[in-house]
Formats: sequence, structure tokens, C-alpha cells
Amino acid sequence: MLSASAGCLWVVATPIGHRDDFSARAIDTLRSVALIAAEDTRHSRQLLLQHNVATPLTALHEHNEREAVDAIVRRMQEGESVALISDAGTPLISDPGFRLVRAARAAGIRCIPVPGACAAIAALSVAGLPSDRFVFEGFLPPKSAARRSRLQELAADRRTLIFYESSHRISECLADMREVFGGEREAVLARELTKLFETVLGEPLEALADRVAGDPDQQRGECVVLVAGCGEEVDARLIEGRRIFAILREELPPAKAAKLAATISGAPRKALYEA
Ligand code: SAM
Repeated sequence: MLSASAGCLWVVATPIGHRDDFSARAIDTLRSVALIAAEDTRHSRQLLLQHNVATPLTALHEHNEREAVDAIVRRMQEGESVALISDAGTPLISDPGFRLVRAARAAGIRCIPVPGACAAIAALSVAGLPSDRFVFEGFLPPKSAARRSRLQELAADRRTLIFYESSHRISECLADMREVFGGEREAVLARELTKLFETVLGEPLEALADRVAGDPDQQRGECVVLVAGCGEEVDARLIEGRRIFAILREELPPAKAAKLAATISGAPRKALYEA
């Protein structure tokens, strides 16, 4: 039930690079609310000043979200409207805000989106990979073993996969993708979108991983990686992998049989184990 006397929570997207990717409605909203909850108030103040927004800011980041949420919800219950922004792009998309939106909704406060830039969607819009079905995976684990195991879980997914990755891990991340998904799988690296050095490279993983490893310029800035979903050629590996798994399974425990069958066939281990 929405509360009639409470303020609203406006969830406002900000630019991911180009300062003009900031909608007129977003700026008007930020000027009109009583308070803006921002991930990094110093960073946001700069952006807001460029657009003549002088609204007071309060910090809402992953380390204080729990306590900050209660105070912000209380202010909205008393009738004030609040806007939520993050450092760049759409709040909650690999950014703080989930707890605040959830608490606001639970308190009957209306949450209103003011949509705008989002790196994942901007990258998908120019990648040239199937966009009818896709899955946003956000950031992968930073350590290689955990990253590979997450990638294994996705290896048989038919949807286009979208990841955020830090530039200092981009080369090792692409190497792990090549190993788990196979070098022939199509992928796109979208870097520095809407900025001066915007680059969108689309190649099979084999070539893309090599190119990025050999070019330090491709290891700078902000990156989105997109990988085509599992297609026919992976199915062929899966079929072969399942055949080998069935033979090995007669002599070995399932986990060991799946591991060996995956190594021999190139099929994803998890898919074999589940099969
Ligand atoms: N909330 C943001 C959004 O809506 O896209 C994402 C925030 S997340 C903390 C930051 C990550 O988004 C970066 O590490 C990078 O992977 C991606 N990203 C943000 N801006 C980007 C840009 N201009 N070009 C490419 N990737 C970008």
C-alpha cells in the first residue's frame, strides 16, 4: 500500500562518460528533491555543480547502507522526497541502492525510475550480438579459480552474456573465458563508452584475448565484455563430452569422470556433471 503523505524515492541515472547523457528530467528531479543520496558525495558534487544542482547530498555506499537507509526512509515518511544516484549510470546496477529501494517499497513509499545511461545496455546496443535474450552477470570473482568456476556455470547458456570487468584484470579474464568457452566463441570488448577513447572490438575469444594481452592500451579504462551464448558448436562438444562421461562413469566417481570428460571433449564440466 502506498503512503499518501510520504515523499517519493526517485532513482536517477547519471552519465557513464559523456556529460550530456543526463536527461532534462533527471536534472529537474535532482534540483527539486530535498536530499540526494549518493555513493560518493565528493564525486557527485562535481557533476551536480556542472548542471547547477545545489541540493544537499548524503552518502549511501556499501559500507553504510544499512544505517543510512533507516535515516533516509524516515525522512521520506515525514514527507520529503529523496533522489538516489550512483557514481555513474543506473543505481543498483553493480552499484549501491538495493537495500534503500527495498526498504522504501516495504514502507509504502513510491519509487520512481528516471532512466538513462547504463554501460551494459549501451554495450549491448552496439555489440552486434543477439540482443533478444541476454543475461547480465555484473563483475566476475577477482580470483581465477572462482572466476573459471562461475564461467563454467554459464558455458552452456544460450543467451548473450554481459560482464563488467576492471581494466587491470581484463587480460586474465579474457584468457579464462577463452579456456572455458573455447577460442571460437564470439565476444565483444566495449571500452570507455561515450568517452574520448571509446572502442568496441568484436572477435572470436581466441583473437580478442591475444589482441588485448598484446596491447596495453586495450587494458585501460572501463570495460564491458559480452560473449555470445552457447551455439551449435558447443552442443557438439557437449554431446561428445556426455559420451565420454558415460564411459568413464562406469569406472570413476561422477565428479572425477566429469572433470576428465570435460578436459578431453572441451565441454563445460558442470554441464557434464549435471547431465
Ligand atoms: N551503474 C553503472 C551502470 O549503470 O552501468 C555501473 C557501475 S559499476 C560500479 C562500474 C563498471 O561499469 C565499470 O567497471 C565498467 O565495467 C562498467 N562501465 C561503467 N562505465 C563504463 C563506460 N563508460 N564504458 C565501459 N564500461 C563502463
